[in-house]
Amino acid sequence: MLFLKDKKSRYFNFILLILVIVFLKICFFKGSKQPNIILITIDGLRADHLSCYGYGRLTTPNVDKLAKDGVIFLQAIAPSTETAYSIPAMITSTYSHYNGIDQWRDTLINPSARTLSEMLLNNGYYAAFFSNGYPLGLIKGIDREMKDFMVDENISAEKLTSISMDWLKLNQNRKFFLWIHYFDTHSPYSPPPPYNTLFIKDELDINDKNIPIASFDKDWAGFDIIPYSVARNNITSVNYYISQYDGAIRFTDEQIGVLLDKLRELKLYENTIIVITADHGENLGEHNRYFQHGGMPFDTLLHVPLIFKYESAISKNKKIKTQVSSAGIVPTLLDMLKIKRSGDIDEKSFLGLAQDKIENYNPYVFSKCAASIYSIRTEKYKLIWLVNSDKYSLYDLHNDKDELYDVKDIKKEEFDFLRNKLRKWFIRNRSSISPKMPPFDKDTIDKLRSLGYL
Ligand SMILES: [Zn+2]
Repeated sequence: MLFLKDKKSRYFNFILLILVIVFLKICFFKGSKQPNIILITIDGLRADHLSCYGYGRLTTPNVDKLAKDGVIFLQAIAPSTETAYSIPAMITSTYSHYNGIDQWRDTLINPSARTLSEMLLNNGYYAAFFSNGYPLGLIKGIDREMKDFMVDENISAEKLTSISMDWLKLNQNRKFFLWIHYFDTHSPYSPPPPYNTLFIKDELDINDKNIPIASFDKDWAGFDIIPYSVARNNITSVNYYISQYDGAIRFTDEQIGVLLDKLRELKLYENTIIVITADHGENLGEHNRYFQHGGMPFDTLLHVPLIFKYESAISKNKKIKTQVSSAGIVPTLLDMLKIKRSGDIDEKSFLGLAQDKIENYNPYVFSKCAASIYSIRTEKYKLIWLVNSDKYSLYDLHNDKDELYDVKDIKKEEFDFLRNKLRKWFIRNRSSISPKMPPFDKDTIDKLRSLGYL
């Protein structure tokens, strides 16, 4: 009997031990699960039109709230003024010399330049990309290792958010990387009611001016002209179109709010890294360019919002003034996830900045604009090089924020130094072997032109 009792007891202890192990495993697994990632890119969104960047209109109440839960980079610079260059550089953290994108027609990201979703695949991430931006569908390669991929230019931010929320619900138990690219802030700005009247005749509606509307045949990117594709009802008021741009920002922000509420409802908010940025900015009259993003790489086009939220790695409500490139988002994410980065990444992680571990980050940010305009930016100066005409202009960003006065003849030492650096970077870029794609068909060219490209 004693033997049987001991046997029973041993059996009981054994079962108990198994249960404890299973329980501990569940707890350990939950606690150590790598975070999910949500990357939100908003097309053509310049930093100074977000209320959390000091804009006078309340354009981004939801993004502002998110920024308070994370870190806001006050001086984030895009790798380009155009979607076709900016997105591949951002998502691979490499420039043209490696990702192969040198002109609009080279819209295949070089297979050897790995995208974020490819880098995350080996670490068990399930990735998806959703957008309502037509040009995003033309950048071949961003769909690599995306389990779900959709670009539909016929839907608004509202529908895009709804699709993203359905996907989140379906995949909430997976470790996921969800990338959403909103296009509603891109011209022609057409926010739905009530956002189309939200910023009309308010206290910022001052010093208005009227300028002519371009005909379709005229140069859309001309000076002092409203692009044909942006104009409506023969309205020539500049402030009207700015109110529509701001209304589109608020509309997109409301949708981001809906998405973040869903994340909270699904109890995914805390264990998800959320990144918000833009591919480039927008000209709203600076340098006599209106409602487009062509021309020179001034800060109206390069200065973008950048917000990171992940409380386990970075403290809340933090503002960082140091200049960073948005091409550094990928190494920063890899750093947060403790994933070893491969050698083919150009930019450095700026996680150390967010954690107060480093003060000096990368002091030079390179950007590319169209096929033959390049820039190098420090926190104090920006040098722009028009390669075809071999012309340079140097701007003192501390004393001339609007970049109006070329100081290359006054600041000769700075000019020589930055010119040498930019030329070296350019030569490296030119050594690329771009995977050429067949030329666009007429429909694609017309569509891109109507959106202000080509
Ligand atoms: Zn864009």
